[in-house]
Amino acid sequence: MIQTTQDEGIVLATLFAEDTLDVACPACSHLTQLSVEWLQTNRHYACGKCGSELDIDGEQLLERLRDVDLAVDNLKSSIDRLKEML
Ligand SMILES: [Zn+2]
Repeated sequence: MIQTTQDEGIVLATLFAEDTLDVACPACSHLTQLSVEWLQTNRHYACGKCGSELDIDGEQLLERLRDVDLAVDNLKSSIDRLKEML
């Protein structure tokens, strides 16, 4: 299960609702694109290639989302620094 605070959940939802993540099938390594919006309400998916029913690793996924979140934060502070230089 993905566990986030409500605020965190809203931020993630706003930032990534339109985004997709590639999830690799452990059986055949086929990458299936899942939208973040979809991932918020689903915990299983079927591999597009071999049809395996797969559980989504919520913890791993959340880590990746946090990485992206962090990257966005870094970008924002870079922009702020640039603005100060102008
Ligand atoms: Zn597969």
